Amino acid sequence: MTKRTVRDFDWRGKRALVRVDFNVPFERGTRRISDDVRIREALPTIAYLREQGASVVLCAHLGRPDGKRDANLQLEPVAERLSELLGAPVPYVNDAVGDEARAAAETLEPGGVLLLENVRFWPEEERNDPAFAAALASLADAYVNDAFGTAHRAHASTEGAAHHLPAMAGLLMEKEIAFLGGILESPARPLAALLGGAKVSDKLQVLGRLIGHADELFVGGGMAGTFLKAQGCEIGASLLEENLTGFCAETMERAAAASTPITLPEDVVVAERIEEGAPTEAVPVGAIPPGAMILDIGPRAAERYARRLAAMGSVVWNGPMGVFEVEPFHRGTQAVAEALAASGAVTVIGGGSTAEAVARFGFAERMSHVSTGGGASLEFLEGKELPGVAALDDAEDSRRSAGT
Ligand code: ADP
Ligand code: MG
Repeated sequence: MTKRTVRDFDWRGKRALVRVDFNVPFERGTRRISDDVRIREALPTIAYLREQGASVVLCAHLGRPDGKRDANLQLEPVAERLSELLGAPVPYVNDAVGDEARAAAETLEPGGVLLLENVRFWPEEERNDPAFAAALASLADAYVNDAFGTAHRAHASTEGAAHHLPAMAGLLMEKEIAFLGGILESPARPLAALLGGAKVSDKLQVLGRLIGHADELFVGGGMAGTFLKAQGCEIGASLLEENLTGFCAETMERAAAASTPITLPEDVVVAERIEEGAPTEAVPVGAIPPGAMILDIGPRAAERYARRLAAMGSVVWNGPMGVFEVEPFHRGTQAVAEALAASGAVTVIGGGSTAEAVARFGFAERMSHVSTGGGASLEFLEGKELPGVAALDDAEDSRRSAGT
C-alpha cells in the first residue's frame, strides 16, 4: 500500500493542515517539557512545507482532557519550544475551529507556522464528528498526517479531516509506513521477530501475523514464563497467564509446522523481588526455584539470541527481554539491543517500552528505525489497517489527478 506523501503536491501559496504528535511529557507538576523528541520528529515535514512555500497550520493533542478545556494541557509551551527549534515565531491560538483560529490561519504568510489549541479540548474530536472534521479541514487547502502515534485512532483530526481535502502522509509517517510495512511486505531475509514485554495476551495477534511470515521467532520478557510453563517447566512465582498455556503450546506447534520456529530462553535471571540490588541468580529453565520470578533472559540465552539475531537480514523487535527499568534485570535487553545496533540487519523497533529501552542504552541512532508509535506500531504489525493511514490518498490516485 503506497500512500500519497507531501512530496506529491504543489505547495506554492497553499495552506497545509498538519496533524502532528506533540504529546510530550512535562516535568512533574510544571509546564516545562522534559523530552521534546516528538517535536523534533515533526521538524522535517514542517521544514519541507515551509521550503515549498506553504503556510502550516499544526494540529495536535496533549494528554487526556476528555473533551474539556484544561489549563494544564494547553499547547502553549509546545508552541514556544517549536519556535525555538525552528528559529521562527510560532503563534499559538487558544482555539481550533472558531473565528480566532480561522483569522490566524488566514493571515499566515508563506512559510508561516501556527499551532492550534489541544484538539482534544473539543469532545467532537474523539467522536470523529463530521462537522468538526469539516471545520478543521476548512482551515487549509490540503491535509497532512505526520502523527503516526495516533494513526490507530479514528478521530476528527486523524481521520475525518482527511476526507475533505487532498490527504497525504508527512515525512515521518512515510518513514513509519516504509519500515513497518517493509517488515510485513518485503523484508530482507532471513526475517526474525523478537517478542517480549509483560504479557502474551498483548502479543497474540502479532504472533498470529508473524507465524508463517518470519523465519524465526525469539521470545523473552514476562511472556516467556507462560510459554515455558506450556513446555512443562516449573516457573515459580513468575508472571503466568494460566488461561493461555494451551494457546502457547499450540502456537509452538503451529509455528514449527509453518517454518517459523519459536526459540525460548534456555536460562533465565530470577529473583524474589523486583527491586534494585535484590539477590539474583541465573538458572537453567528446568531449575527455577519455587518462589522465584523470571525477570530477565539468562546470560546464555542473551548470548545466543544476540549471535543469531546479528546474522539476520531483518529483525523486528517488540517488547523488552526483562524488567529493563530495574538493574540488574536490564542485561538481556541491553545485550540484544547492542547486537542489533552492531548488526548489518534492517532493524525495526516497535513498542513504547522497547523504544525507551533502546534509547536508554544509547542505541537508538544505530537502529534502522525506532517507531514513534507504541500502540500504533503494534496494531500495524498485527496486520491491521490504521484508520489514519487508510484515510490518506493512495499514491496512484494522486498521480492520476496530477495528470502524470
Ligand atoms: P512495549 O511497550 O515495547 O510494547 P510491553 O508494554 O509489552 O512493551 O512490555 C513492557 C514491560 O514489560 C516493561 O515495563 C517490562 O518491565 C515488562 N517486563 C519485561 N519482562 C518482564 C518479566 N520477566 N516480568 C515482568 N514484567 C516484565
Ligand atoms: Mg507498552
